[in-house]
Amino acid sequence: MVVSETIAEARAQVAAARAAGRSIGVVPTMGALHAGHGQLIEQARAECAFVVATIFVNPTQFNQTADFEKYPRTFEADLAVCRNAGADLVFAPAAGEMYPERGFTAVEVGKLGDHLCGAFRPGHFRGVATVVAKLFLITQPDRAYFGEKDAQQLAIIERMTRDLNFPVDIVPVPTVREADGLAMSSRNLRLTAEERAAAPVLYRALQLIRERVNQGGSLAEAREAAAALIASADPAPRVEYLELVDLDTFTPQASVMMPSRVAIAAWLGEVRLIDNVRV
Ligand code: AMP
Repeated sequence: MVVSETIAEARAQVAAARAAGRSIGVVPTMGALHAGHGQLIEQARAECAFVVATIFVNPTQFNQTADFEKYPRTFEADLAVCRNAGADLVFAPAAGEMYPERGFTAVEVGKLGDHLCGAFRPGHFRGVATVVAKLFLITQPDRAYFGEKDAQQLAIIERMTRDLNFPVDIVPVPTVREADGLAMSSRNLRLTAEERAAAPVLYRALQLIRERVNQGGSLAEAREAAAALIASADPAPRVEYLELVDLDTFTPQASVMMPSRVAIAAWLGEVRLIDNVRV
């Protein structure tokens, strides 16, 4: 496995693979890798001849400096995850390599970024779309792998790829969970033991809404029951949003539309967690 910190070297590696007729898969990440990321890399390994994992904590997608500074960085362990999952190349640039000067050009994501995480994290998806566009142009993949855990991000990347005609197939990968149902996330590392024990209530609340709605129950009542369930946890997560949204536009719906997604963001202490399920 080659580890490259420069765009020039990553391009040379990819060009050599391409010249040898190998298909290229990319898995963009921000590091602090866990089994969810491992799953993305393994799927890329199964489907592509040359697998690139990128590790870059992208400053332009953080709207709070503290969140950026406290984002876990576990580079040596990350390399082991990439190696075990079968990556051929790890592209891990420093911020100065990706943004050598203040950027003027960016990707606007339109109304797909208006709701849910977009409403609470201004500029977040613009930062995500812009860095993913840059990573696509640097690594020139045939296929790119993204987790359904970040469903709004996945929808925005799919739409950007269509709108800007990137010749890349976007491959969605189902959410990988801990044994107790908590969606794996790099941010889980920042939870205290008590917060970690309470965190699975978010997935249980999503499952509760899915069951009730699938059985024809009212969305309002299902949401109330889910909110009560979350409030009963100790410590109780502070819910930022809990919405049933349209699958394409991520617009919150007042009543059930099929198919759709129920998505949640909630704070446990200083840590913001997100999760979602399809309904
Ligand atoms: P991140 O490093 O958190 O930006 O995530 C990098 C990629 O891994 C994104 O496409 C995420 O959606 C995906 N990912 C993160 N956590 C999980 C998970 N628990 N299951 C599946 N994919 C995930």
